[in-house]
Amino acid sequence: MGYTYDPENIFARILRGEIPNSTVYETEHTLAFRDINPQAPVHVLVIPKGPYVSYDHFAQEASEAEIVDFTRALGKICEMEGVEAHGPGCRFISNAGHDGVQEVPHLHVHILGGRPLGRMLSSA
Ligand code: AMP
Repeated sequence: MGYTYDPENIFARILRGEIPNSTVYETEHTLAFRDINPQAPVHVLVIPKGPYVSYDHFAQEASEAEIVDFTRALGKICEMEGVEAHGPGCRFISNAGHDGVQEVPHLHVHILGGRPLGRMLSSA
């Protein structure tokens, strides 16, 4: 069993331009846009343009160029949104699979900030 990517997931449709999004930042390999249901004043989703289900999938199979581009984009967006750790700070979350309660099966990192976020997990 390996990773199976569903090309009809909603973020794939955003990447194909079939659904609008509120773009924050875009590079050759990465797109960042605002979450449609924000949980904090800053709530940006960062996704690779390639067909990766989750961060572990991406970490195993993406090219070095994609990984560098994606990682640098995370830093750039923190700077643009003013939520760097040397300022107010933020949280990165990337849910994966069943136990991670991942809803959209295309890798996304949530960047949350703009208010104190509490402890990492609120329930078991
Ligand atoms: P997850 O549970 O980590 O898979 O989170 C999926 C996230 O995608 C949720 O925070 C949703 O609010 C967000 N979301 C779903 N559809 C859209 C959309 N069309 N545009 C922006 N964010 C979306």
